[in-house]
Amino acid sequence: MKAAVFKEVGQPLAVETVADPVPESTELVMKVSFCGICGTDLHATREGLTTACCGQILGHEYVGEIVEVGKEAAGDWQVGDRVCAMPFIACGHCLPCAAGRFFECAEKKVSGVDDQGGFAEFVTTGCRETILLPDTLDMQSAALVEPLAVGIHAVRVGNVKAGSRILVIGAGPIGLTVALWCRFFGARDVVVSEVATTRADLAKKMGATAVIHPDLSKGAEGLLQQFSDVAGGAPDVIFECVGAPGLLQQCIEMAPYGGRIIPVGVCEQPDSIMPFFGLVKELQIQFAIAYTRDDFDTCVAMLGEGRIDVSPMVTDIVSLDEMPDAFEALRTPSHQCKVLARMD
Ligand SMILES: [Zn+2]
Ligand SMILES: [Zn+2]
Repeated sequence: MKAAVFKEVGQPLAVETVADPVPESTELVMKVSFCGICGTDLHATREGLTTACCGQILGHEYVGEIVEVGKEAAGDWQVGDRVCAMPFIACGHCLPCAAGRFFECAEKKVSGVDDQGGFAEFVTTGCRETILLPDTLDMQSAALVEPLAVGIHAVRVGNVKAGSRILVIGAGPIGLTVALWCRFFGARDVVVSEVATTRADLAKKMGATAVIHPDLSKGAEGLLQQFSDVAGGAPDVIFECVGAPGLLQQCIEMAPYGGRIIPVGVCEQPDSIMPFFGLVKELQIQFAIAYTRDDFDTCVAMLGEGRIDVSPMVTDIVSLDEMPDAFEALRTPSHQCKVLARMD
């Protein structure tokens, strides 16, 4: 099969012919229709904590059709089923697995890390981690289920309530899905802070009740003032969806007494905070990562019923051959939000 393969840091992905995946008897094989390019994929091609190995096929936001069902695969899977899948294959027997929290499984294989990913014509998926798509859901929208699931998981962890005042820092794909779910769960104010104009415009389409352009020279105090001007008070919950050093401290300074901060952005550098400012306000800082089976199921159901719309987020669709260039371009994005690689 054809796949886009990671060679080494500093080199673009290479489109090559590689061996077809060989599934375990409990696994499924998906013919990939679309695979979204994610910030995590870009991180994996840089020097850092998550750098991929040479020869790795990245990509974990895939949808497609089942072409092979393992003899011992649980469930009623049929060749031709339209599906999306959580990008790991877990043991299925441990306590977290029993609760659908596959990400916590110590035995799991992760697509694009220790298992082959979705920037390829075919990918193996787990029988428990694969989700049938309703007929009403098109493949292109379904390709957004993974970032949507990251968003809903963070919003559930953040305990967003009807009437909450919310600040979302950053309008990249994750900031946007966080904003969408905050709106969905009835937040009174969903204020997105974003420097780039194209992303700010997108935030409005995805559910932000207001978008503010932060004045970086004025720091936390300036941002809090801007937030209060539109929301009439301080944010109950702050979602940090950028992952740059300094932002956590800014959130701590902005939050009101008893406020909640949910870091969702991926920061791979040391970042200093002044705990005292959090202490005196009795802040909660709750990190959020990945998703559960129920997060995925809910995203599929809400998309299928047309109760949420992610189409504004898809800015580019490229072929597998065009994908390495599109991938490099995302290192300095301009208009792009979610770029989908089309595999068929
Ligand atoms: Zn992702
Ligand atoms: Zn397990």
